[in-house]
Amino acid sequence: MTNKEIRTRIAPSPTGDPHIGTAYISIFNLAFARQNGGKFIIRIEDTDRERYIEGTDKIIIENLNWLGIEADESPEIGGQYAPYVQSKRLHIYKEYIKKLLDNESAYYCFCTKERLEGLRNTQIHSHTQPKYDKKCLSLTKEEVEINIKEGKEYVIRLNVKPGIDIKFNDLIRGEVSINTDSIDDQVLIKNDGFPTYHFASIVDDHLMKITHVIRGEEWISSTPKHILLYKAFGWEVPSFAHTSLLRNKDRSKISKRKNNTSILWYKEQGYLPEAIINFLILLGWSNPSGEEIISTHEFIKKFSFDRMTKSGPIFDIDKLNWINGVYIRKKSIDELKKLVKPYLKYDIKPSKLDKILKITQERIKKLNEINDLISFFVEDIFPPSELLHEKYDKETTDKILKFALKTLKDNGINKDSELKLKEHALQEKYNVGDFFMVIRIATCGRKVSPPLIDTLDILGIEEVEKRIQNSIGR
Ligand code: GLU
Repeated sequence: MTNKEIRTRIAPSPTGDPHIGTAYISIFNLAFARQNGGKFIIRIEDTDRERYIEGTDKIIIENLNWLGIEADESPEIGGQYAPYVQSKRLHIYKEYIKKLLDNESAYYCFCTKERLEGLRNTQIHSHTQPKYDKKCLSLTKEEVEINIKEGKEYVIRLNVKPGIDIKFNDLIRGEVSINTDSIDDQVLIKNDGFPTYHFASIVDDHLMKITHVIRGEEWISSTPKHILLYKAFGWEVPSFAHTSLLRNKDRSKISKRKNNTSILWYKEQGYLPEAIINFLILLGWSNPSGEEIISTHEFIKKFSFDRMTKSGPIFDIDKLNWINGVYIRKKSIDELKKLVKPYLKYDIKPSKLDKILKITQERIKKLNEINDLISFFVEDIFPPSELLHEKYDKETTDKILKFALKTLKDNGINKDSELKLKEHALQEKYNVGDFFMVIRIATCGRKVSPPLIDTLDILGIEEVEKRIQNSIGR
């Protein structure tokens, strides 16, 4: 490698909600740049005006920032090669397309939609690959000028020479070779005057001095076109790395229908940014140590292309839930309190909330579960009779509850009482688990709760008495 500054970029299109796949690609671009003391750039590719949705560019960047993905140069931050939004760079593309027209790497095409459709249908019918037939390549300069003067609509196409093997060495996949026979004369400038993605991104990657293009696998078949463009300009071709696509459980490309693809959803559910990033890292890269919990900082140190996944990783939300739980458990109670605050619908005294969180932390997988997990501390509970009497008949249940209440009142809510209750259960030949379950259901209204004595301690003896009395005789 030369000692040129390493520069990577992501180039999201503002066409909707911030996509989890954008975060996935970003983390590898960021890691490689940071590892090499280089720069990571965000560029907004908004040349597809039909799919453009106003405001989504800002939301994409905001949410990447929320995930801890911060660029060195971007529309917000600016930089040496600003503007970083393609719709503000139209004058640049105009200037550069002239060079390709001048050296005959590109040509005007005035074919109508109807002609192109007809051509396509004939080709499909005769089982040949649908491709433009270069009809307009034979127009003379004069004919082109006349057409333009007459106001005929046109596009500008890349003149792809047939029969050439385009090879490149993908940093993840090794050598890739595609013959130009399978490449269409790509439109570079559309009839609305905007460049296509292919043209604009090559011009920008060159001008922004991008050294490594790390992007999704879906672009691999476009790369030969891009290489042709670099060559047509006489520019140095950057290195390419195509990451494998995230997949639904059925191995299809990750989609809204089968997975939540918007970063906004993950935020709402209460996934922590560091957990999401950790999860995405593991999807695309395998840790040589085999460890599954890894910080961005450590990932940057360890990243290498040869450990990138080549086959499509399955987006397994259960795994994310597990990782999120791990990160939640790492939080201090003060941190956790701040994190759950936006989700919490109850007004709980801070000292009580501290106690509740301390015994609940273990069980939180997503922050939005907090209300369900702790509701019984705050709301009145009415344990359903079938739950209350699931293990024992009414008479036995009442007996257990009366004994429990007396023990707790006489000795207080503490370990000593817990021991006494256990001894009693053993003596009377109850199943200890079932015995405590009766008390849990009477006081918490549910089968699962944090450790019982700690829970009762937070409820306080008055509340415990009220709840047990309510359950006796039910
Ligand atoms: N604008 C493209 C996208 O939305 C960028 C592809 C690339 O990275 O070259 O994915």
